[in-house]
Amino acid sequence: MYIVMLGAPGSGKGTAAKILAKKTNLPHISTGDMFREQIKKGTELGKLAESYMSNGKLVPDEVTIGIVKDRLNSDDTKEGVILDGFPRTKMQAEALDEILKEQGKKVDIVPELIIPDDVIVDRILNRQTCSNKECGAIYNTKYKPSKVAGVCDVCGAPLSSRTDDNEETIKNRLEVYRENSKDLIEYYKEKGVLTQITPKDPTAENASEQAVEEILSAKL
Ligand SMILES: [Zn+2]
Repeated sequence: MYIVMLGAPGSGKGTAAKILAKKTNLPHISTGDMFREQIKKGTELGKLAESYMSNGKLVPDEVTIGIVKDRLNSDDTKEGVILDGFPRTKMQAEALDEILKEQGKKVDIVPELIIPDDVIVDRILNRQTCSNKECGAIYNTKYKPSKVAGVCDVCGAPLSSRTDDNEETIKNRLEVYRENSKDLIEYYKEKGVLTQITPKDPTAENASEQAVEEILSAKL
């Protein structure tokens, strides 16, 4: 099962992808993790990616696609994957189709998480993360507060709520996402694999779990 997760920044796409990975036993492949892995291994692609990233530049398509191809040729991805953060453009989606076609495979389902803008704004503005990096638990003062204010339920470390965002920057980012993903979403719609996922209560603590249940009952 080859799954491509789509969703705006702040939609909880990454969290849903992780939960889905656990439930399906498929590897969760995020672009960030793939880049870090290649850089750590010191591969040519890793070095290339690093040279762009350290200059604050976007990694060009051919490098990203090369890294994805390498990952999709690993043993643990033969049964399927959950892709998170790739493809970002129609061109990348076509490249992904090519890579899978060579293996006699295809993208099976593309869940797109639909969360109302005001919920995304609230999620980001009220987010708190555990300052203990080993723990990394995430809270939300509005939707998922810790039992004791400012203290992590899991490990007792203080919570930090640093955000450089305000409502306007978040809404701008959502606009940019919509503009940039239009062709990509259309591409998957035409292929008949796009499934829009709308959790019944997107403000609930378990909104990501709800989304995953919807994905599982949609097509898998
Ligand atoms: Zn913690």
